[in-house]
Amino acid sequence: MTDFDTKNAFGFETRAIHAGAAPDAATGARNTPIHHSTSYVFDDVDHAASLFNLQTFGFIYSRLTNPTVAVLEERIANLEGGRAACAAGSGHAAQFLAFFTLLEPGDHFVASRNLYGGSITQFGVSFKKLGWHCDFADPLNPETFRAALKENSKAIFIESVSNPSSVIGDIEAIADIARDSGIPLIVDNTMATPYLFNPIDHGADIVIHSTTKYLNGHGNSMGGIIVESGKFDWAQNDKFPSMTAPDDAYHGLTFYETFGDFGFTMRIRAVALRDFGPALSPTNAFMTLTGIETLPLRMNRHVANAETVAAWLEDHPAVAWVSYAGLRSSNSYKSKNKYFSKGCGSVFTFGLKGGYDAGTRLVEGCTLLSHLANVGDTRSLILHPASTTHRQLTEDQQIAADAGPDVVRISVGIETVEDIIADLDQALRGLRD
Ligand SMILES: *Cc1c(COP(=O)(O)O)cnc(C)c1O
Repeated sequence: MTDFDTKNAFGFETRAIHAGAAPDAATGARNTPIHHSTSYVFDDVDHAASLFNLQTFGFIYSRLTNPTVAVLEERIANLEGGRAACAAGSGHAAQFLAFFTLLEPGDHFVASRNLYGGSITQFGVSFKKLGWHCDFADPLNPETFRAALKENSKAIFIESVSNPSSVIGDIEAIADIARDSGIPLIVDNTMATPYLFNPIDHGADIVIHSTTKYLNGHGNSMGGIIVESGKFDWAQNDKFPSMTAPDDAYHGLTFYETFGDFGFTMRIRAVALRDFGPALSPTNAFMTLTGIETLPLRMNRHVANAETVAAWLEDHPAVAWVSYAGLRSSNSYKSKNKYFSKGCGSVFTFGLKGGYDAGTRLVEGCTLLSHLANVGDTRSLILHPASTTHRQLTEDQQIAADAGPDVVRISVGIETVEDIIADLDQALRGLRD
C-alpha cells in the first residue's frame, strides 16, 4: 500500500497517475508492466493451499487476478473513494457479475428508465432468462422508484448522468429510498467518470463503469469495473444469502463475515468471475491505466467543448431541441448544478426539425465527426439511433427510449471546438439542399 491509496491524501490529478502503481519491484520499470502470464508459481504446497482457501492474497490464475489488472482495480477504487474493485472484460460483464452476486432466481430490482440502450435490453430481456426481473422508474421523479419496489427487490440501479440524453436525477433522494428498503443503490458512473462525480459521496453503495468510454478515453480497449463503497451492511436483513450464507465451495466460508467491507468484491471475484470468466485482459488494463493518467485534462476539455457545441446547436435553425444537462433549458439543470460542479460530460442528444431523413443525412454529411456506435473517445462521434442502435424497435418504442426518428446522439471530443462546429455547420447546411 502506498500513501496514494488514501482518497484524501493527494489531489485527484495525482491519484489518477499514481494510485495503485509503484515502480516494479523486480526490474524498477516505472510504468506498470503488462503481465501477460496466465498463471503464477506457488512458493510451496502450503502457499498454494492457503491461496485456494482465500486465506492469503496473491496470484493464482489470470481469470481471477492479474498484477496489471490489479493496479487498475486499485486505481479506480481510489478515484471513486471506494473500498475495493473488481474489473471485467466489458461494462456489460461488470453489470452481470454485480447482479449475479446480488440476485437469486425470482428476484427483482428497479432501474432508471434513462439508461444506456444495451443496459435496458440486458435488464429487460436477457436477465429474464435467469429469473431476474426489472421494472423501470423515472429518475426525475424519485418516488417512482419507491412505488416500483417489491418484497423481493434487491437493488436500485441508475446512471449518474444518463447515456445518451444527459438526464440527471436527484441521486441523494434515490439513495434514501434504497437505504429505507435495506438494499444497495448501484450507480453506473460511466458518463461522468470519477473526475466529475463520486456517487459514493452521495449515498451509492456500488459504482459500475464501462471503462471502454472516458476512462480509457481513446476508443481502443473494452473494459468494465465494479467498485464497492464498503459501507453497506449485508447482514441487516436476509435478502443477500450470497454474502451472509456459508459457501460450500470455500469450506463454509461466509463472505461478509470473513472479508467485511470488501466482502462483495471478494464474492464477485471468487465466485462470479471464477465461474463465468469475463476477465479483463492485461493489455486492456494497461491501455486504460494510461488513459486514466490524463482523465482530468481530457474531461475538462470534453466539458468545455460540449458546452460550446450544445449552446451553438440550441441556436441553430435546423435544430428543434437539445437535451444536455449543462443547458438552462434542461429538466436536469437543477440536479446538474447540485451535483456536477465541474460539468456533466460531453454526450447528449438533439432533435432535428427534418426528422428521420435529416438524421441520416446529417451523420452522412459529417466528415470530421465519425459515424459510429461508441462514446467517450478523444474524437467527436455522431450517431442516428433510429437507423442504427434502435432500428429493431417500433417508432413508439424508439420514442419511449429517447431515440425517436429525429434524435441524433453526439459525443463531443477534444479537438479544436471551432472545427467540430464547422463540420456540424456544413452538414446541417447540407440538409437544406
Ligand atoms: C457503454 C456503456 C455500458 C456498457 O459497457 P460496455 O463496455 O460496452 O459493455 C454501460 N453503461 C453505459 C452508461 C455505457 O455507456
